[in-house]
Amino acid sequence: MVLAEVDRSWSVSRSADLYGLEQWGEPYFSINSRGHVVVQPRGDRGGSLDLVDLVEGLAARDLHPPLLIRFEDILEDRLERLHAAFDRAISLYDYDGRYQGVFPIKCNQQRHVVEHLVESGQRWSFGLEAGSKAELLIALSLIKDQQALLICNGYKDRRYIETAILARRLGHQPIVVIEQADEIQRIIQASQELGASPYIGIRAKLSSRSTGRWGSSVGSRAKFGLDLNEMLQTVRALEKAGLLGDLRLLHFHIGSQINDIAVLKDALQEAGQIYVELTRLGAPMGFLDVGGGLGIDYDGSRTASAASTNYSLQNYANDVVATIRECCVPLGVQVPTLVSESGRALASHFSVLVFNVLGSIRAPDGEPQPEDDEPLPVANLRETLQRIRQLDSTELSLLQEAWNDAIKFRDDALTAFRLGYLRLNQRAMAEQLSWTCAKEISARLPTDKPIHDDLRGLQGALAWTYYANLSVFRSAPDTWAINQLFPVMPIHRLQECPSELGQFADLTCDSDGKLARFIDRGTEKSLLELHPLRDGEPYWVGMFLGGAYQEVMGNLHNLFGTTDAVHIRLAPGGDYQVDHVVRGDTNAEVLRAMEHNPESLL
Ligand code: PLP
Repeated sequence: MVLAEVDRSWSVSRSADLYGLEQWGEPYFSINSRGHVVVQPRGDRGGSLDLVDLVEGLAARDLHPPLLIRFEDILEDRLERLHAAFDRAISLYDYDGRYQGVFPIKCNQQRHVVEHLVESGQRWSFGLEAGSKAELLIALSLIKDQQALLICNGYKDRRYIETAILARRLGHQPIVVIEQADEIQRIIQASQELGASPYIGIRAKLSSRSTGRWGSSVGSRAKFGLDLNEMLQTVRALEKAGLLGDLRLLHFHIGSQINDIAVLKDALQEAGQIYVELTRLGAPMGFLDVGGGLGIDYDGSRTASAASTNYSLQNYANDVVATIRECCVPLGVQVPTLVSESGRALASHFSVLVFNVLGSIRAPDGEPQPEDDEPLPVANLRETLQRIRQLDSTELSLLQEAWNDAIKFRDDALTAFRLGYLRLNQRAMAEQLSWTCAKEISARLPTDKPIHDDLRGLQGALAWTYYANLSVFRSAPDTWAINQLFPVMPIHRLQECPSELGQFADLTCDSDGKLARFIDRGTEKSLLELHPLRDGEPYWVGMFLGGAYQEVMGNLHNLFGTTDAVHIRLAPGGDYQVDHVVRGDTNAEVLRAMEHNPESLL
């Protein structure tokens, strides 16, 4: 449907406002005077790339949308910002300790991503968190800095524990975090048999409340962590086995995407007191690991909504540092090195999915020519249409009444058709007339008053469906699985008024395969403002902030394989260089993944 008459006074700043770019995109994304999205990969430290020029340049190298563009400089900038925030907090609160983070590999296991984080994090001895044996192997092979931490979470069988012990022998800093009570005996046994032990941590099952999508990560029903009794038993068991000297770390994780800072503060206080108690029980300790959860402002609203956070990165660091200091200093306990396992906050921004639109459809246009002796439902619809056209006000109750009538007469036409009183062409006329009524009503809806759900639904029924060249299940699985919102917007034509409203349907043959929820200043909307497609011209849309979790959670539904991915780095002189090209799956590869033999199929 047409939003309004195409607004000739439209400007790029109105596009920025419409899509919330200055709220969620700052400091990495903006719009230039050509109406193109611009990427500032180093944030406010200078340098920018026109995303449309980049997409065109990549097309010349046979890399076409859908394309995952990974900006390595953004990854580095996120790392830099995280450390700068903790440095500022440490000096602000005169904290007599330091911050030493790790990247949870599960967040994005791609080799180039993990390698890049480890390499650029060396100056802070930035480490890795592994949640499985395979991730532990990645961590062991990549960490060269012997000061960097290697936090070992996840299910630990004997092999896992032995690998961690070996890592310590090789001079690494593996800390095996006990998350389930039965792990303690396996650790003690392996240590006794090998005559060496890993460093040990305990994951606390906190009682503090939590909110948000992953709020069930705390409390007595949480999947991981030890309650207070189990912690005391663990300390006693370690002491008995002569391993209490290896207990160095307390860990907690209250869920990803913490949206409310108050929740974090409660958890920090509880964990801070447990930390103090563990030192009093004789454990040397030294590290407090606040887990992941540092959130991302996907909708740019700075609120505690599920797609946002009511705090900044600096607020987060300040609260961690100040609260732990408050717990330790008054009781004469040396403050710990603070560890966080921030995944989403590091990896979300750096990856942009650009996809093209293959076509669009919507309800048919046009009013059927009147005919002699039209059946009653058709005549009634035609009369309703005339009545709507004669309305000289945007009185909502009159519009609502007219829409109710149109629906009634359309249903009458269906009933009459079913009973054999209407011919096919007459039924088609009724359908077409009801669409025309809907369009006329929609054009009269006031923009400054709240609209009843029935009439809002009418806008949805008239909206365009844009066919997106992607699989939602492959490239944006969280939009389908957990209703995650990502900023989605065209990356060009932003100097033009986006005069249509639409949703995206993907290429899978699944009715769930769509993007139909969009950010809207702290709430969400089901239709996005888009531009009309032009013959022979591409229409490119970007999905932003999807660098965390989407790639590995993506699945092979309908056998859509991974898209091509490129790693881009800002080059001197304002240009860019392509560091890596990771080709997407071929049809043969996805067929093989399902045990088919592509050659014999051919
Ligand atoms: N640490 C643990 C134990 C986790 O389970 C997770 C993910 O939920 C993370 C860290 C990373 O969390 P986030 O990506 O929210 O920072």
